[in-house]
Amino acid sequence: MPTPKGPMDVIVIGAGAAGLAAMRRLVEAGLRVVCLEAADRIGGKVNTVPFAGHVVDLGAQECEGQKGNIVVEMAKPLGLLEDLKQPETYTFLSNGNSLQNEIVASFNEKMQRFIDEAKKNNTKSITEVVEEAFKSETFNQEPALNKSLLEWFERSHELGGHSDPKLGKSLHGVEERKYCDGTYQMWKGKGMGTILELLMNKYPDPSKALAIDIEMKKEVDVINWNTESKLIHITCKDGSSYEARSVISTVSVGYLKERYPVLFTPPLPKEKIDAINNLDMFLIDKIFMEFPEPWWPETPAKFQLIWRPEDKVNFTEEEKWITEVYSMDTVDHNPNVLVGWINDDGARLMEKTSEENVKKGMDKLLSMLFKDKFDVKPIQTLLRTKWQTNRFERGAYSYRSVYTEENGGSAEALGKPITDAKGFPVICFAGEATSPHYHATVHGAIETGFREAERVIKSFK
Ligand SMILES: Cc1cc2nc3c(=O)[nH]c(=O)nc-3n(C[C@H](O)[C@H](O)[C@H](O)COP(=O)(O)OP(=O)(O)OC[C@H]3O[C@@H](n4cnc5c(N)ncnc54)[C@H](O)[C@@H]3O)c2cc1C
Repeated sequence: MPTPKGPMDVIVIGAGAAGLAAMRRLVEAGLRVVCLEAADRIGGKVNTVPFAGHVVDLGAQECEGQKGNIVVEMAKPLGLLEDLKQPETYTFLSNGNSLQNEIVASFNEKMQRFIDEAKKNNTKSITEVVEEAFKSETFNQEPALNKSLLEWFERSHELGGHSDPKLGKSLHGVEERKYCDGTYQMWKGKGMGTILELLMNKYPDPSKALAIDIEMKKEVDVINWNTESKLIHITCKDGSSYEARSVISTVSVGYLKERYPVLFTPPLPKEKIDAINNLDMFLIDKIFMEFPEPWWPETPAKFQLIWRPEDKVNFTEEEKWITEVYSMDTVDHNPNVLVGWINDDGARLMEKTSEENVKKGMDKLLSMLFKDKFDVKPIQTLLRTKWQTNRFERGAYSYRSVYTEENGGSAEALGKPITDAKGFPVICFAGEATSPHYHATVHGAIETGFREAERVIKSFK
């Protein structure tokens, strides 16, 4: 297939939050630029879709805090955001008995204190500290219940590392990650996808949209770069090719892990390869369930689920993933829907199960938990995410594990540009994983897109 366009100034790879942010700045600066997106839609891990007569967010849904959050800075003045409503929380044991929320809260507080007080300058995982603390601490409850609470704590705090302890979230990473002050913000029922429209200037007045050129279903296959040559050559899986003076890659660490040896010719510098190999991707999936009407006592509500080992035996090997669902919540502005949360190994298993079996499994779980308390209705429609199976993502967001701490790897190393002898940025790296303090977020991703676009714009002056 012939090259469809003459050489560009810049090619942006990926039209997620980071890619669109970079495109916005580059277009505003008047550079000749195109964005190549592998999927048939924009947004990457921001994906708002219709469900149950309203919308749901398959990926990011909330703005984590306000102060210094670029998403909030863009959306709040337009009246698009509201405070996240605090849900009424219910705690259930897996046999359907209620557990006092205070028991869970006091367990959480104790564990959180150990994490806060632990020395962070080492290669330990959070799980290691929590489990050591657990052995030394005395609790008021039965030992068996404490173990179930510990499992719940690890799951709901996304500590990971269940099959391989070294994949556990690192203590050091806790210090690196920063949170914006202020209450979390939601999108008044419009979904996180609104940020994509804001980035492209399509909202509030579509006639003012920026002329952002995005080519869909263009999976970049090979990036042929050379710091001595004036142009970078890009070949896509469909055989088309492109040329540009500079490239900004925003593809996820999950994708890079699988494809960096063939994606880049010549190979990337060792520091970059180490960062790709040693930063990890956490997996979290959502299971949306639509009912004919709400059967739960109120909205918003959160149902925390504490699993007892003796109840897990009610599930077959194929149903094992069900025993890793740790919470079910009502969904913002979507009255007939609950969302189940599952992560890590459980999510991997769930993704391998057919949608029909996920529906059957969730119906079985709901009936087991709630049939004595509420008039539970069968699930009408189910929609679940498969962020691991999605080969352009391979996970939900980056994190620091014990492997990262032991083998080295950082957002700074991943985000460092490859420059020519004169310092011109030949290949730049953006995307959430290159954000030193706000990785795993939309605002972090957007900041990195702006950062790399500004780097390139400065070099073109
Ligand atoms: C379930 C879930 C819940 C989340 N919750 C929140 C939340 O509540 N709040 C929050 O702030 N963040 C949340 N996040 C994280 C947030 O969604 C991400 O950090 C952010 O969207 C990442 O944006 P990005 O542009 O860096 O990467 P991506 O969104 O991954 O974009 C990369 C793009 O590159 C494309 N691509 C990949 N390979 C190629 C190729 N070879 N050629 C061309 N294109 C390619 C992909 O298709 C994709 O569109 C959540 C994520 C998930 C999955």
